[in-house]
Amino acid sequence: MLDAAGIFAGLPLQAPGPFYTTPSVVEEVKDENSRRILERSATLGRLKVRSPSQGFMEEARRVASELGVEVSLSHTDVEVLALALELRASSLDVVVVTDDYMLQNASTYAGLRFMSVKTLGIRGVRRYEVYCPACGYKPSEPVSESCPRCGHSLARRPKA
Ligand SMILES: [Zn+2]
Repeated sequence: MLDAAGIFAGLPLQAPGPFYTTPSVVEEVKDENSRRILERSATLGRLKVRSPSQGFMEEARRVASELGVEVSLSHTDVEVLALALELRASSLDVVVVTDDYMLQNASTYAGLRFMSVKTLGIRGVRRYEVYCPACGYKPSEPVSESCPRCGHSLARRPKA
């Protein structure tokens, strides 16, 4: 169960899942990097976007009001919580992945497990670039194993 932070971190590309999220989370995701992650995860079939049913939305709102946090939880947070409750009711093993303290708190209160993206130690999708360690040449197109300029073997390094 992912909120926007989990998508931003590229979780669905790093583990087979399946991961679930809600339509409002998808709407919140606007930056180009996260959009690309959404598209790729959809292609891989690892991320399912689902709306919680009305009954579980009410259940999630009840949890929020019992905690006195109904004003602190956004509509998206409530939706995430509701879908997590619904998935658990269909006996799935649900973990809510979020960095939002209010949502972590509400999940714990509802008896759901949560994990924060930060503690998972994931800091976004890493990109690599190919370069020649001998002459510093950086091919703009993917090329063969050796440097077209000096013949040295090419290497890979994380892109800054
Ligand atoms: Zn070279």
